[in-house]
Amino acid sequence: MKNPQSSHAKTVAVVGTGMAGLATAHLLHQDSQKRYQVTLIEKRDQISLSAESVQIPSRDSNGPAVWADVPMRAFAGGFYRNLIRMYDYLGVKYREQPFLFSFTRLPKRQQSVSTTSCIPGPQMVYASNFHQIPPIPRTTNLIHWCVEAVYAVLCYLWFTFCCFFISPYAENLQTGQLSESLDHYLRRMWIPQYYVANYLLPLISSVCTCSHHELLNFPASDVIEYKRRTHLQQHFVVTAGVQCVQPKLLEGVELRLGVNLTHVIPQDNGVQIKYSTEDGKHTSEHFDLVVLAVSPDIAASLFPAVNSQLSAIPTTTVETVAHTDKSTIRPMLHATASPNSIKCAKESRGSYNLLTQRIHLLSNGTITEAVHEQTNSILVTTNPLFPLDKSKIIRSASFVRVLRSPLSRLVVNSIFQGRVERTNLPKSTPVVSSWRNGDNGVYLAGGWCWDGMVLLEGCVVSAMRVATDLGVVVPWDDTSS
Ligand SMILES: Cc1cc2nc3c(=O)[nH]c(=O)nc-3n(C[C@H](O)[C@H](O)[C@H](O)COP(=O)(O)OP(=O)(O)OC[C@H]3O[C@@H](n4cnc5c(N)ncnc54)[C@H](O)[C@@H]3O)c2cc1C
Repeated sequence: MKNPQSSHAKTVAVVGTGMAGLATAHLLHQDSQKRYQVTLIEKRDQISLSAESVQIPSRDSNGPAVWADVPMRAFAGGFYRNLIRMYDYLGVKYREQPFLFSFTRLPKRQQSVSTTSCIPGPQMVYASNFHQIPPIPRTTNLIHWCVEAVYAVLCYLWFTFCCFFISPYAENLQTGQLSESLDHYLRRMWIPQYYVANYLLPLISSVCTCSHHELLNFPASDVIEYKRRTHLQQHFVVTAGVQCVQPKLLEGVELRLGVNLTHVIPQDNGVQIKYSTEDGKHTSEHFDLVVLAVSPDIAASLFPAVNSQLSAIPTTTVETVAHTDKSTIRPMLHATASPNSIKCAKESRGSYNLLTQRIHLLSNGTITEAVHEQTNSILVTTNPLFPLDKSKIIRSASFVRVLRSPLSRLVVNSIFQGRVERTNLPKSTPVVSSWRNGDNGVYLAGGWCWDGMVLLEGCVVSAMRVATDLGVVVPWDDTSS
Protein backbone atom coordinates (compact mmCIF):
# COMPACT_ATOMS: atom_id res chain seq x y z
CA MET A 1 0.00 0.00 0.00
CA LYS A 2 1.39 3.37 -1.00
CA ASN A 3 1.31 6.11 1.57
CA PRO A 4 -1.63 8.42 0.56
CA GLN A 5 -0.01 11.39 2.34
CA SER A 6 3.08 11.19 0.22
CA SER A 7 1.84 11.99 -3.30
CA HIS A 8 4.53 14.70 -3.59
CA ALA A 9 7.16 12.50 -2.04
CA LYS A 10 10.08 11.28 -4.13
CA THR A 11 9.81 7.64 -5.09
CA VAL A 12 12.81 5.56 -4.02
CA ALA A 13 13.48 1.93 -4.96
CA VAL A 14 15.79 0.23 -2.45
CA VAL A 15 17.08 -3.02 -3.92
CA GLY A 16 18.15 -5.83 -1.55
CA THR A 17 16.89 -6.99 1.84
CA GLY A 18 20.20 -7.64 3.59
CA MET A 19 21.01 -5.43 6.56
CA ALA A 20 22.03 -2.53 4.28
CA GLY A 21 18.79 -2.49 2.27
CA LEU A 22 16.59 -2.88 5.35
CA ALA A 23 18.40 -0.09 7.25
CA THR A 24 18.31 2.27 4.24
CA ALA A 25 14.60 1.65 3.61
CA HIS A 26 13.85 2.18 7.31
CA LEU A 27 15.77 5.45 7.50
CA LEU A 28 14.20 7.00 4.38
CA HIS A 29 10.71 5.83 5.33
CA GLN A 30 10.91 7.35 8.84
CA ASP A 31 11.85 10.81 7.49
CA SER A 32 9.88 13.21 9.69
CA GLN A 33 8.98 15.33 6.63
CA LYS A 34 7.73 12.28 4.69
CA ARG A 35 9.74 13.24 1.61
CA TYR A 36 10.41 9.70 0.42
CA GLN A 37 8.05 6.98 -0.66
CA VAL A 38 10.12 3.83 -0.35
CA THR A 39 9.66 0.55 -2.22
CA LEU A 40 11.91 -2.28 -1.05
CA ILE A 41 12.68 -4.81 -3.77
CA GLU A 42 14.08 -8.32 -3.30
CA LYS A 43 14.66 -11.06 -5.86
CA ARG A 44 14.16 -13.87 -3.34
CA ASP A 45 10.75 -14.88 -2.06
CA GLN A 46 11.72 -13.90 1.49
CA ILE A 47 13.71 -11.25 3.34
CA SER A 48 17.32 -12.26 3.01
CA LEU A 49 18.77 -11.03 6.33
CA SER A 50 17.71 -14.13 8.25
CA ALA A 51 16.58 -16.32 5.34
CA GLU A 52 19.09 -19.06 6.20
CA SER A 53 18.81 -18.87 10.00
CA VAL A 54 17.76 -22.06 11.76
CA GLN A 55 15.09 -22.31 14.43
CA ILE A 56 16.25 -24.55 17.27
CA PRO A 57 13.65 -26.12 19.55
CA SER A 58 14.09 -25.14 23.18
CA ARG A 59 15.49 -27.74 25.61
CA ASP A 60 12.55 -26.90 27.82
CA SER A 61 9.37 -28.05 26.02
CA ASN A 62 7.51 -24.92 27.22
CA GLY A 63 10.37 -22.52 26.58
CA PRO A 64 10.64 -20.23 23.57
CA ALA A 65 12.43 -21.50 20.44
CA VAL A 66 15.88 -20.03 19.86
CA TRP A 67 17.45 -19.09 16.54
CA ALA A 68 20.90 -19.93 15.25
CA ASP A 69 21.95 -17.16 12.90
CA VAL A 70 23.28 -18.54 9.61
CA PRO A 71 25.63 -17.00 8.75
CA MET A 72 26.85 -15.74 12.08
CA ARG A 73 25.77 -12.19 12.95
CA ALA A 74 28.02 -11.53 15.95
CA PHE A 75 29.31 -8.06 16.74
CA ALA A 76 31.71 -6.50 19.20
CA GLY A 77 31.88 -3.30 21.19
CA GLY A 78 34.21 -0.63 19.78
CA PHE A 79 33.96 -1.63 16.12
CA TYR A 80 30.17 -1.85 15.73
CA ARG A 81 29.31 1.57 17.17
CA ASN A 82 26.52 2.35 14.69
CA LEU A 83 25.03 -1.15 14.61
CA ILE A 84 24.78 -1.12 18.40
CA ARG A 85 23.19 2.35 18.39
CA MET A 86 20.68 1.20 15.79
CA TYR A 87 19.82 -1.91 17.84
CA ASP A 88 19.40 0.24 20.95
CA TYR A 89 17.15 2.66 19.05
CA LEU A 90 15.02 -0.21 17.70
CA GLY A 91 14.86 -1.90 21.10
CA VAL A 92 16.62 -5.04 19.84
CA LYS A 93 17.83 -7.14 22.75
CA TYR A 94 21.34 -8.51 22.53
CA ARG A 95 23.62 -10.29 24.96
CA GLU A 96 27.28 -10.86 25.60
CA GLN A 97 28.67 -13.96 23.95
CA PRO A 98 32.08 -15.20 25.12
CA PHE A 99 33.87 -17.61 22.78
CA LEU A 100 36.41 -20.36 23.26
CA PHE A 101 38.51 -20.85 20.11
CA SER A 102 40.36 -24.10 19.50
CA PHE A 103 43.18 -24.08 16.91
CA THR A 104 43.92 -27.28 15.02
CA ARG A 105 46.71 -27.56 12.49
CA LEU A 106 45.97 -30.29 9.96
CA PRO A 107 49.18 -32.23 9.29
CA LYS A 108 50.77 -31.55 5.90
CA ARG A 109 50.34 -35.09 4.59
CA GLN A 110 46.61 -34.97 5.37
CA GLN A 111 45.93 -31.64 3.77
CA SER A 112 44.42 -33.24 0.71
CA VAL A 113 42.81 -36.12 2.58
CA SER A 114 39.11 -35.65 3.05
CA THR A 115 38.53 -38.09 5.91
CA THR A 116 37.93 -36.97 9.46
CA SER A 117 39.62 -40.01 11.02
CA CYS A 118 43.09 -38.40 10.94
CA ILE A 119 42.17 -35.01 12.43
CA PRO A 120 44.47 -34.41 15.42
CA GLY A 121 43.44 -32.69 18.64
CA PRO A 122 43.88 -28.92 18.87
CA GLN A 123 47.35 -27.50 19.53
CA MET A 124 45.90 -24.56 21.51
CA VAL A 125 42.69 -23.16 22.97
CA TYR A 126 42.11 -19.44 23.43
CA ALA A 127 39.34 -17.67 25.38
CA SER A 128 38.01 -14.43 23.89
CA ASN A 129 39.18 -11.46 25.99
CA PHE A 130 40.85 -13.99 28.31
CA HIS A 131 37.44 -14.35 30.00
CA GLN A 132 38.49 -17.71 31.45
CA ILE A 133 41.57 -19.87 31.74
CA PRO A 134 41.44 -21.98 28.60
CA PRO A 135 41.74 -25.76 28.98
CA ILE A 136 45.02 -27.44 28.08
CA PRO A 137 44.27 -29.94 25.28
CA ARG A 138 44.73 -33.42 26.74
CA THR A 139 46.16 -34.68 23.48
CA THR A 140 49.31 -32.50 23.62
CA ASN A 141 52.54 -33.07 25.48
CA LEU A 142 52.60 -30.64 28.45
CA ILE A 143 56.13 -29.33 27.87
CA HIS A 144 55.46 -28.89 24.18
CA TRP A 145 52.21 -27.10 25.00
CA CYS A 146 53.96 -24.74 27.47
CA VAL A 147 56.57 -23.76 24.88
CA GLU A 148 53.87 -23.21 22.23
CA ALA A 149 51.67 -21.22 24.65
CA VAL A 150 54.52 -18.88 25.69
CA TYR A 151 55.47 -18.41 22.03
CA ALA A 152 51.88 -17.68 20.98
CA VAL A 153 51.37 -15.19 23.83
CA LEU A 154 54.63 -13.34 23.04
CA CYS A 155 53.73 -13.12 19.35
CA TYR A 156 50.22 -11.95 20.25
CA LEU A 157 51.61 -9.21 22.49
CA TRP A 158 54.02 -8.05 19.78
CA PHE A 159 51.24 -8.04 17.15
CA THR A 160 48.98 -6.07 19.51
CA PHE A 161 51.77 -3.56 20.19
CA CYS A 162 52.30 -3.10 16.43
CA CYS A 163 48.57 -2.56 15.85
CA PHE A 164 48.45 0.24 18.39
CA PHE A 165 51.78 1.94 17.75
CA ILE A 166 52.90 1.26 14.17
CA SER A 167 50.47 2.28 11.45
CA PRO A 168 50.42 0.64 8.04
CA TYR A 169 51.62 2.67 5.05
CA ALA A 170 48.85 4.75 3.52
CA GLU A 171 48.49 5.04 -0.25
CA ASN A 172 50.60 7.69 -1.92
CA LEU A 173 48.85 9.14 -4.93
CA GLN A 174 51.94 11.18 -5.87
CA THR A 175 53.99 8.05 -6.46
CA GLY A 176 51.09 5.76 -7.42
CA GLN A 177 51.75 3.57 -4.38
CA LEU A 178 48.68 1.70 -3.06
CA SER A 179 48.11 1.26 0.69
CA GLU A 180 50.06 -1.50 2.43
CA SER A 181 48.72 -5.05 2.27
CA LEU A 182 48.35 -7.19 5.38
CA ASP A 183 51.04 -9.54 4.10
CA HIS A 184 53.53 -6.68 3.67
CA TYR A 185 52.71 -5.22 7.07
CA LEU A 186 53.13 -8.54 8.92
CA ARG A 187 56.50 -9.10 7.25
CA ARG A 188 57.62 -5.52 7.91
CA MET A 189 56.71 -5.96 11.61
CA TRP A 190 58.64 -9.25 11.76
CA ILE A 191 55.57 -11.11 13.02
CA PRO A 192 56.81 -14.75 12.94
CA GLN A 193 55.37 -16.68 9.98
CA TYR A 194 54.60 -19.72 12.17
CA TYR A 195 52.36 -17.58 14.39
CA VAL A 196 50.79 -15.90 11.34
CA ALA A 197 50.00 -19.24 9.65
CA ASN A 198 48.77 -21.13 12.71
CA TYR A 199 47.01 -18.48 14.80
CA LEU A 200 46.54 -15.06 13.22
CA LEU A 201 45.26 -16.09 9.78
CA PRO A 202 42.95 -18.88 11.03
CA LEU A 203 41.38 -16.49 13.55
CA ILE A 204 40.95 -13.48 11.26
CA SER A 205 39.96 -15.55 8.24
CA SER A 206 37.13 -16.99 10.32
CA VAL A 207 35.84 -13.41 10.67
CA CYS A 208 36.35 -12.59 6.97
CA THR A 209 35.42 -16.17 5.88
CA CYS A 210 37.99 -16.19 3.07
CA SER A 211 41.22 -18.06 2.27
CA HIS A 212 44.51 -17.11 3.94
CA HIS A 213 45.88 -15.89 0.61
CA GLU A 214 42.87 -13.60 0.06
CA LEU A 215 43.18 -12.28 3.59
CA LEU A 216 46.88 -11.49 3.20
CA ASN A 217 45.93 -9.26 0.27
CA PHE A 218 43.54 -7.18 2.41
CA PRO A 219 44.65 -3.62 3.19
CA ALA A 220 46.57 -3.91 6.47
CA SER A 221 44.57 -0.94 7.78
CA ASP A 222 41.36 -3.06 7.80
CA VAL A 223 42.78 -5.66 10.17
CA ILE A 224 44.74 -3.19 12.31
CA GLU A 225 41.68 -0.97 12.76
CA TYR A 226 39.49 -3.98 13.61
CA LYS A 227 42.03 -5.14 16.20
CA ARG A 228 42.42 -1.67 17.71
CA ARG A 229 38.71 -1.13 18.06
CA THR A 230 37.76 -4.59 19.33
CA HIS A 231 40.72 -5.04 21.69
CA LEU A 232 39.37 -6.25 25.07
CA GLN A 233 35.78 -5.52 23.96
CA GLN A 234 32.91 -7.92 24.50
CA HIS A 235 31.32 -9.90 21.69
CA PHE A 236 27.53 -9.83 21.38
CA VAL A 237 24.75 -11.64 19.57
CA VAL A 238 21.10 -10.67 19.14
CA THR A 239 19.30 -12.70 21.83
CA ALA A 240 16.44 -13.86 19.61
CA GLY A 241 18.52 -13.97 16.40
CA VAL A 242 18.55 -11.33 13.66
CA GLN A 243 15.12 -12.49 12.50
CA CYS A 244 13.72 -10.21 15.22
CA VAL A 245 15.43 -7.17 13.65
CA GLN A 246 13.62 -7.55 10.30
CA PRO A 247 10.06 -6.56 11.31
CA LYS A 248 11.38 -3.56 13.21
CA LEU A 249 13.24 -2.21 10.18
CA LEU A 250 10.43 -3.11 7.77
CA GLU A 251 7.59 -1.44 9.65
CA GLY A 252 5.46 0.57 7.20
CA VAL A 253 7.79 0.01 4.22
CA GLU A 254 6.27 -1.24 0.95
CA LEU A 255 7.92 -4.58 0.19
CA ARG A 256 8.02 -6.51 -3.09
CA LEU A 257 9.49 -10.00 -3.01
CA GLY A 258 10.35 -12.15 -6.03
CA VAL A 259 11.39 -9.10 -8.09
CA ASN A 260 14.68 -9.65 -9.91
CA LEU A 261 16.21 -6.36 -11.05
CA THR A 262 17.96 -6.61 -14.41
CA HIS A 263 18.79 -3.03 -15.48
CA VAL A 264 19.23 0.39 -13.91
CA ILE A 265 18.98 3.16 -16.52
CA PRO A 266 19.45 6.78 -15.45
CA GLN A 267 17.19 9.25 -17.24
CA ASP A 268 16.87 13.04 -17.23
CA ASN A 269 14.10 13.05 -14.63
CA GLY A 270 14.89 9.98 -12.55
CA VAL A 271 15.90 6.36 -12.96
CA GLN A 272 14.23 3.61 -14.95
CA ILE A 273 14.54 0.08 -13.60
CA LYS A 274 13.78 -3.12 -15.45
CA TYR A 275 12.96 -6.33 -13.66
CA SER A 276 11.44 -9.75 -14.03
CA THR A 277 8.95 -11.26 -11.62
CA GLU A 278 8.39 -14.87 -10.59
CA ASP A 279 5.57 -15.30 -13.11
CA GLY A 280 8.14 -14.63 -15.88
CA LYS A 281 6.90 -11.10 -16.69
CA HIS A 282 9.40 -8.39 -17.64
CA THR A 283 8.48 -4.91 -16.50
CA SER A 284 10.03 -1.46 -16.37
CA GLU A 285 9.21 1.23 -13.84
CA HIS A 286 10.31 4.77 -13.12
CA PHE A 287 11.63 5.97 -9.73
CA ASP A 288 13.10 9.31 -8.70
CA LEU A 289 15.99 7.57 -6.91
CA VAL A 290 17.41 4.06 -6.70
CA VAL A 291 19.54 2.58 -3.89
CA LEU A 292 21.40 -0.60 -4.86
CA ALA A 293 22.02 -2.47 -1.59
CA VAL A 294 23.57 -5.45 -3.36
CA SER A 295 27.09 -6.88 -3.68
CA PRO A 296 29.46 -4.98 -6.04
CA ASP A 297 29.47 -7.69 -8.72
CA ILE A 298 25.66 -7.46 -8.96
CA ALA A 299 25.70 -3.64 -8.92
CA ALA A 300 28.27 -3.69 -11.73
CA SER A 301 26.10 -5.96 -13.87
CA LEU A 302 22.92 -3.93 -13.26
CA PHE A 303 24.34 -0.45 -13.69
CA PRO A 304 26.98 -0.06 -16.44
CA ALA A 305 28.17 3.36 -15.16
CA VAL A 306 29.91 1.65 -12.20
CA ASN A 307 31.04 -1.46 -14.04
CA SER A 308 34.70 -0.52 -14.57
CA GLN A 309 35.13 0.66 -10.99
CA LEU A 310 33.32 -2.16 -9.22
CA SER A 311 34.98 -4.90 -11.25
CA ALA A 312 38.14 -4.10 -9.23
CA ILE A 313 36.41 -5.31 -6.04
CA PRO A 314 37.14 -9.01 -5.42
CA THR A 315 34.39 -11.35 -4.23
CA THR A 316 34.26 -15.03 -3.32
CA THR A 317 31.62 -17.59 -2.48
CA VAL A 318 31.38 -19.05 1.01
CA GLU A 319 29.53 -22.19 2.01
CA THR A 320 27.90 -22.41 5.43
CA VAL A 321 26.22 -25.58 6.70
CA ALA A 322 24.04 -26.02 9.80
CA HIS A 323 24.17 -29.68 10.88
CA THR A 324 24.59 -32.15 13.75
CA ASP A 325 27.57 -34.16 12.42
CA LYS A 326 30.22 -34.08 15.17
CA SER A 327 32.80 -36.21 13.36
CA THR A 328 35.06 -33.26 12.47
CA ILE A 329 35.18 -31.81 15.96
CA ARG A 330 35.23 -35.08 17.92
CA PRO A 331 39.03 -34.88 18.50
CA MET A 332 38.61 -31.33 19.84
CA LEU A 333 35.74 -32.33 22.10
CA HIS A 334 37.74 -35.28 23.38
CA ALA A 335 40.87 -33.18 23.98
CA THR A 336 39.15 -30.37 25.85
CA ALA A 337 36.29 -32.11 27.62
CA SER A 338 36.54 -31.53 31.34
CA PRO A 339 34.09 -30.07 33.83
CA ASN A 340 36.02 -26.80 33.74
CA SER A 341 36.43 -26.47 30.00
CA ILE A 342 33.16 -24.67 29.54
CA LYS A 343 32.40 -22.01 32.02
CA CYS A 344 28.92 -20.87 32.78
CA ALA A 345 29.39 -17.20 33.54
CA LYS A 346 26.71 -15.29 35.32
CA GLU A 347 25.74 -12.26 33.27
CA SER A 348 26.50 -9.13 35.27
CA ARG A 349 22.90 -7.90 35.16
CA GLY A 350 21.94 -11.26 36.60
CA SER A 351 19.03 -11.97 34.26
CA TYR A 352 20.41 -15.06 32.50
CA ASN A 353 23.38 -17.33 32.24
CA LEU A 354 25.93 -16.82 29.54
CA LEU A 355 27.17 -20.04 28.11
CA THR A 356 30.50 -19.80 26.42
CA GLN A 357 30.26 -21.04 22.83
CA ARG A 358 33.09 -22.96 21.23
CA ILE A 359 34.43 -22.22 17.76
CA HIS A 360 36.80 -24.84 16.35
CA LEU A 361 39.26 -23.62 13.73
CA LEU A 362 40.82 -26.33 11.56
CA SER A 363 43.46 -24.99 9.24
CA ASN A 364 45.15 -26.71 6.30
CA GLY A 365 47.54 -23.79 5.78
CA THR A 366 45.41 -22.35 2.98
CA ILE A 367 41.84 -22.37 4.25
CA THR A 368 40.38 -22.47 7.74
CA GLU A 369 37.21 -24.39 8.45
CA ALA A 370 35.27 -22.84 11.35
CA VAL A 371 32.83 -25.01 13.31
CA HIS A 372 30.62 -23.03 15.67
CA GLU A 373 28.86 -25.01 18.40
CA GLN A 374 25.38 -23.65 19.05
CA THR A 375 22.79 -24.59 21.65
CA ASN A 376 21.11 -28.00 21.43
CA SER A 377 24.09 -29.60 19.63
CA ILE A 378 23.59 -27.67 16.41
CA LEU A 379 26.86 -26.98 14.59
CA VAL A 380 27.39 -24.28 11.99
CA THR A 381 30.35 -24.98 9.72
CA THR A 382 31.79 -22.33 7.44
CA ASN A 383 34.17 -23.29 4.63
CA PRO A 384 33.84 -27.06 5.24
CA LEU A 385 37.06 -28.97 4.47
CA PHE A 386 35.60 -32.40 5.20
CA PRO A 387 32.43 -33.98 3.82
CA LEU A 388 29.50 -34.00 6.24
CA ASP A 389 27.00 -36.79 6.76
CA LYS A 390 24.14 -35.72 4.45
CA SER A 391 21.51 -37.12 6.79
CA LYS A 392 22.71 -34.74 9.51
CA ILE A 393 22.58 -31.56 7.42
CA ILE A 394 19.80 -29.19 8.47
CA ARG A 395 20.52 -26.39 6.02
CA SER A 396 23.26 -25.49 3.61
CA ALA A 397 23.72 -22.10 1.96
CA SER A 398 26.21 -20.22 -0.18
CA PHE A 399 26.91 -16.54 0.30
CA VAL A 400 28.79 -14.01 -1.80
CA ARG A 401 31.53 -12.56 0.35
CA VAL A 402 33.02 -9.24 -0.67
CA LEU A 403 36.78 -9.15 -0.19
CA ARG A 404 39.17 -6.24 0.15
CA SER A 405 42.45 -5.30 -1.50
CA PRO A 406 44.53 -2.10 -1.57
CA LEU A 407 43.18 -1.40 -5.06
CA SER A 408 39.53 -2.03 -4.16
CA ARG A 409 40.00 0.18 -1.11
CA LEU A 410 41.08 3.03 -3.38
CA VAL A 411 38.10 2.46 -5.67
CA VAL A 412 35.60 2.31 -2.78
CA ASN A 413 37.02 5.47 -1.22
CA SER A 414 36.85 7.30 -4.55
CA ILE A 415 33.15 6.43 -4.84
CA PHE A 416 32.19 7.36 -1.29
CA GLN A 417 34.73 9.91 -0.10
CA GLY A 418 35.64 12.04 -3.07
CA ARG A 419 37.42 12.21 -6.33
CA VAL A 420 40.91 10.78 -6.65
CA GLU A 421 43.25 12.22 -9.25
CA ARG A 422 44.37 9.63 -11.78
CA THR A 423 47.83 11.10 -12.25
CA ASN A 424 50.51 8.57 -11.35
CA LEU A 425 48.09 5.80 -10.39
CA PRO A 426 49.11 2.33 -11.57
CA LYS A 427 47.94 1.57 -15.13
CA SER A 428 45.73 -1.25 -13.87
CA THR A 429 43.68 1.19 -11.76
CA PRO A 430 40.13 1.47 -13.10
CA VAL A 431 38.63 4.89 -13.73
CA VAL A 432 38.37 5.70 -10.06
CA SER A 433 37.16 9.24 -10.42
CA SER A 434 34.33 8.75 -12.89
CA TRP A 435 31.22 7.92 -10.83
CA ARG A 436 30.41 8.96 -7.29
CA ASN A 437 27.71 7.77 -4.96
CA GLY A 438 24.44 9.54 -5.77
CA ASP A 439 25.37 10.53 -9.35
CA ASN A 440 22.46 10.00 -11.78
CA GLY A 441 20.09 9.46 -8.83
CA VAL A 442 21.70 6.10 -8.00
CA TYR A 443 23.17 5.27 -4.58
CA LEU A 444 25.08 2.24 -3.34
CA ALA A 445 24.82 0.67 0.13
CA GLY A 446 26.21 -2.53 1.62
CA GLY A 447 28.69 -4.04 4.03
CA TRP A 448 31.41 -3.22 1.47
CA CYS A 449 30.49 0.48 1.05
CA TRP A 450 32.89 1.91 3.59
CA ASP A 451 36.60 1.92 4.36
CA GLY A 452 36.80 -1.18 6.55
CA MET A 453 36.21 -4.91 6.86
CA VAL A 454 33.02 -6.07 5.16
CA LEU A 455 30.76 -6.65 8.13
CA LEU A 456 27.36 -5.49 9.42
CA GLU A 457 28.78 -2.16 10.62
CA GLY A 458 29.48 -1.20 6.98
CA CYS A 459 25.82 -1.93 6.15
CA VAL A 460 24.59 0.51 8.79
CA VAL A 461 27.23 3.18 8.03
CA SER A 462 26.39 3.11 4.30
CA ALA A 463 22.63 3.26 4.99
CA MET A 464 23.21 6.27 7.26
CA ARG A 465 25.28 7.91 4.50
CA VAL A 466 22.45 7.59 1.97
CA ALA A 467 20.00 9.05 4.49
CA THR A 468 22.31 11.94 5.37
CA ASP A 469 22.97 12.72 1.68
CA LEU A 470 19.21 12.92 1.18
CA GLY A 471 18.77 15.24 4.15
CA VAL A 472 17.18 12.66 6.45
CA VAL A 473 18.07 12.80 10.14
CA VAL A 474 19.40 9.48 11.45
CA PRO A 475 17.59 9.03 14.76
CA TRP A 476 20.36 7.00 16.42
CA ASP A 477 23.21 9.25 15.26
CA ASP A 478 23.99 11.53 18.18
CA THR A 479 26.87 13.16 16.25
CA SER A 480 24.39 14.82 13.85
CA SER A 481 22.43 16.63 16.58
C1 LIG B 1 29.69 -16.90 6.40
C2 LIG B 1 29.55 -15.45 6.79
C3 LIG B 1 29.68 -15.09 8.13
C4 LIG B 1 29.57 -13.74 8.50
N1 LIG B 1 29.66 -13.41 9.82
C5 LIG B 1 29.50 -12.12 10.19
C6 LIG B 1 29.49 -11.74 11.56
O1 LIG B 1 29.59 -12.59 12.46
N2 LIG B 1 29.37 -10.42 11.86
C7 LIG B 1 29.23 -9.45 10.90
O2 LIG B 1 29.12 -8.28 11.25
N3 LIG B 1 29.20 -9.79 9.61
C8 LIG B 1 29.33 -11.09 9.22
N4 LIG B 1 29.31 -11.42 7.90
C9 LIG B 1 29.21 -10.35 6.91
C10 LIG B 1 27.80 -9.83 6.79
O3 LIG B 1 26.89 -10.91 6.85
C11 LIG B 1 27.67 -9.09 5.46
O4 LIG B 1 28.60 -8.05 5.43
C12 LIG B 1 26.29 -8.48 5.33
O5 LIG B 1 25.30 -9.46 5.50
C13 LIG B 1 26.13 -7.84 3.97
O6 LIG B 1 24.83 -7.31 3.90
P1 LIG B 1 24.36 -6.45 2.66
O7 LIG B 1 23.03 -5.89 2.99
O8 LIG B 1 25.43 -5.52 2.24
O9 LIG B 1 24.26 -7.48 1.43
P2 LIG B 1 23.46 -8.91 1.24
O10 LIG B 1 23.13 -9.43 2.59
O11 LIG B 1 24.33 -9.64 0.33
O12 LIG B 1 22.13 -8.43 0.56
C14 LIG B 1 22.01 -8.23 -0.84
C15 LIG B 1 20.56 -8.44 -1.21
O13 LIG B 1 20.34 -8.09 -2.55
C16 LIG B 1 19.48 -9.05 -3.14
N5 LIG B 1 19.68 -9.00 -4.58
C17 LIG B 1 20.81 -9.32 -5.25
N6 LIG B 1 20.63 -9.15 -6.57
C18 LIG B 1 19.37 -8.70 -6.74
C19 LIG B 1 18.61 -8.35 -7.89
N7 LIG B 1 19.11 -8.43 -9.12
N8 LIG B 1 17.32 -7.93 -7.72
C20 LIG B 1 16.79 -7.85 -6.47
N9 LIG B 1 17.48 -8.17 -5.34
C21 LIG B 1 18.75 -8.60 -5.49
C22 LIG B 1 19.94 -10.34 -2.50
O14 LIG B 1 18.99 -11.38 -2.64
C23 LIG B 1 20.12 -9.90 -1.07
O15 LIG B 1 18.91 -9.88 -0.39
C24 LIG B 1 29.37 -12.76 7.51
C25 LIG B 1 29.22 -13.11 6.16
C26 LIG B 1 29.30 -14.45 5.80
C27 LIG B 1 29.13 -14.83 4.36
